[in-house]
Amino acid sequence: MERSNAATLQTTHPEASKSVSALNLSGAVLMMLFLPPFTYYMWICMVQFGGALVSPAALVGRIPAPTPLSVAIFLGWFLLQALLQIVAPGKTSYGLPLADGQRLAYKMNGPFSFWFSIAAAALVVYTGLLAPSVLYDQFGPLLTTANLFTLALSFYLYWLGKASPKPERLSGNRFYDFFMGTALNPRIGSFDLKLFCEARPGLIGWVLINFSMAAKQYQLHHTVTVPMILVCAFHFVYVADYYFNEEAVLTTWDIKYENFGWMLCWGDLVWVPFTYTLQALYLVNHTHSLPLWGIVGIVALNLTGYLIFRRANIQKHKFRKDPERLVWGKKPEYITTPRGLLLVSGWWGIARHINYFGDLLMGLAWCLPTLFNHPLTYFYIVYFTILLVHRERRDNSFCHAKYGADWERYRTKVRWRIIPGVY
Ligand code: NDP
Repeated sequence: MERSNAATLQTTHPEASKSVSALNLSGAVLMMLFLPPFTYYMWICMVQFGGALVSPAALVGRIPAPTPLSVAIFLGWFLLQALLQIVAPGKTSYGLPLADGQRLAYKMNGPFSFWFSIAAAALVVYTGLLAPSVLYDQFGPLLTTANLFTLALSFYLYWLGKASPKPERLSGNRFYDFFMGTALNPRIGSFDLKLFCEARPGLIGWVLINFSMAAKQYQLHHTVTVPMILVCAFHFVYVADYYFNEEAVLTTWDIKYENFGWMLCWGDLVWVPFTYTLQALYLVNHTHSLPLWGIVGIVALNLTGYLIFRRANIQKHKFRKDPERLVWGKKPEYITTPRGLLLVSGWWGIARHINYFGDLLMGLAWCLPTLFNHPLTYFYIVYFTILLVHRERRDNSFCHAKYGADWERYRTKVRWRIIPGVY
């Protein structure tokens, strides 16, 4: 039985009624001012100072301009991904009902695009059109190209949302609306810009940049070390898994509630590919090995995290489709509310965001292969912990607003936010 529980599906943003606060506005200004230079800073620390933290003054005079090659690679990549999004085969899925009851159609052709892109990149390297280390060599210029492109795209998105005849969630502050976006689902015809940017160029780019780092390590040191293989393999599996379960993205916070403006656009096209590759970037010139127990421990940590993350997300997804389906072999316990059902069994009975816990364990496993010489190689897990703790609190207020006293009943039954027994 597949039950689409319309009452559980709401697309009104929890912060819909708020106008922008001074705190939110200053947060947006700070993020736009500091995050782009910070991505350069980390790259410069890695490639010019061996991963050591240096004074931010090191940025001066070191930010590269785009090169013709970086522009060609970035635009070629973006267009290839857009073309695949349009023509690649895949089934059609429908998003959650919008405020007007309409459900948008999405073409779920990510798996084809992913494998096709990897094969295309291999062909480009095999035929000698581009060197395998090109993404490492052009990292700085590519970063600048991506930053400029994202800025231009964000202006377009701002205009597109403003021109939309649909009622969109706006704060009334131009800068903040540019930052957060002026439309929930900006589209050109049936081409969904938010899902595309979220799911394609940056995500597949992340995997290919990692591979390019491994190629550079081989070029410089005639070896691809176990830590490099681990990092590349973990990230590859994470991204491949995303495509394997592609439809689940339609019920994530970003797709359901977040407008598409500079923040998400920049996160998708700059932050993910250029900072999630930091460990691999570090490992290019750090060719240490790992003891067998270390390799086994790191793999086990990643696997544990992956199983928690994946099983928990799938369990909720399947529960939403069929609330009577058995959970861990038993009839599920759930709380019935006027706005939908809340699962209390299985993973969702252990912690209210146990899926974040799994993601965090994986994040730690991705940093450990770099060993402990420089704090910067642990940037990912620190950043990700802050992100998920903040996200959990935001989701908690949202669920409180949506489910009211029923959410409090769930909180009483399931005490932990993310880490059972700890937090
Ligand atoms: P979730 O998938 O956890 O979704 C939260 C929503 O699920 C709630 O708003 C509520 O929505 C519903 N929900 C909460 N509790 C229950 C329950 N007990 N029973 C049924 N429904 C419930 O959050 P995210 O979208 O934030 O994250 C999705 C995944 O993406 C996570 O695994 C996260 O770790 C990962 N992620 C990864 C990032 C990265 O950069 N690598 C960044 C962000 C997230 P409703 O009631 O409206 O259905």
